[in-house]
Amino acid sequence: MTMDHLRRNFLQKLVASAVVVPMLSPYRALAGADPAGTGSNRGAALRVALMGLGSYAARVAEAMRSCKRARVAGLISGTPSKLQAWGTKFGVPEKSRYNYENFDRIKDDPDIDAVYIITPNALHRDQAIRVARAGKHVICEKPMALNAKEGQDMVDACADAGVKLLVGYRMHFEPNTLEVIRMREAGDFGKILFFQGLCGFRIGDPGQWRLDKALAGGGALMDIGIYAVNGARYMVGEEPTWVTAQQTRTDPVKFKEGVDETIQFQLGFPSGAVASCLSTYQMNHLDRFFMTGEQGFAELQPATGYGPIRGRTHKGELARPHTTHQTVQMDEMAGILLDGKTPVVPVDGEEGLKDLKIIDAIYAACDTGGRQDLRLG
Ligand code: NDP
Repeated sequence: MTMDHLRRNFLQKLVASAVVVPMLSPYRALAGADPAGTGSNRGAALRVALMGLGSYAARVAEAMRSCKRARVAGLISGTPSKLQAWGTKFGVPEKSRYNYENFDRIKDDPDIDAVYIITPNALHRDQAIRVARAGKHVICEKPMALNAKEGQDMVDACADAGVKLLVGYRMHFEPNTLEVIRMREAGDFGKILFFQGLCGFRIGDPGQWRLDKALAGGGALMDIGIYAVNGARYMVGEEPTWVTAQQTRTDPVKFKEGVDETIQFQLGFPSGAVASCLSTYQMNHLDRFFMTGEQGFAELQPATGYGPIRGRTHKGELARPHTTHQTVQMDEMAGILLDGKTPVVPVDGEEGLKDLKIIDAIYAACDTGGRQDLRLG
């Protein structure tokens, strides 16, 4: 989607965006998904199978209890005891519980519309392709895949299967974030000049998959720095055309080759706006977006945590009420998958792919020390 398209449709879409959810009885009509997005399922609940029952899936499952348009309808896990416990807890019948060997059978499960992949990053590509081939919509956690090549494979597989691919970009539905985007579109900041994104935390247990290159595909950039990559795009409202980056490593024991500890990167946009970002696994208290334009500024801090997201602009405090991100995200994704609704900020596979192309270029820039040109369309 071009920025012109975004701009044209912005106000219209915002009215029906993340914060406005139809007040329907939760599961009154359990119609199937609508791959063509014809809108024929308006009002139905999206029946979601969660894949990978770890810590984030637990947060999503709890949040989905409050959804008006989505519910947990299936489970996919490598741990039989979790299938049993989560099945009981979330009312998922045994017939809709699967493991990683047999989940292709969801093809014949008429009670599942979509699979939400919440496993370690390196598993996303192959799992998404299998889900697509089973004829179910794919919702995949960030980062969508390990690199742009893998991401493209996922986009292609979903297109071939006639299913949709969405990425778990919960901030795209967050009310204060959307308010900043609305203000930018309304011209409140004037011409955008600069964005700063600071994203990081001090990572603990050295044995976890996030510090294993094979499962994580990298380090902080794949996990937390991606919020600055993605945020730079939706805050500035343009696609970057170049990137430069520098990597520093203070703990080579914890952060092995290929697992980035701290990266600073800079992005350039067609309008002349620039961004300066920090991604790290070695510092706490870093969750801040700042943007300035010729006529004003916006600041979000925290900017991407689970909330409440707080912030202010040159016009005062941002005061949109907090909503549980994952509840809104899943209700909105039901609208996208079942009704063909278009979100204010895209959450589709192409959106995930753009971030992966930038991440590939950031790693290349770290390796070469030179500027990388980007062609994101
Ligand atoms: P966890 O380690 O807590 O859970 C991952 C789960 O994946 C495991 O519990 C396990 O579930 C399953 N799994 C399958 N194979 C493996 C393997 N080889 N090693 C480890 N786990 C495996 O991770 P998170 O839940 O924190 O993260 C999962 C994904 O969600 C990541 O892509 C991450 O980036 C993303 N995420 C997104 C967030 C957001 O705000 N959008 C926040 C946190 C994470 P089982 O036993 O059921 O098979």
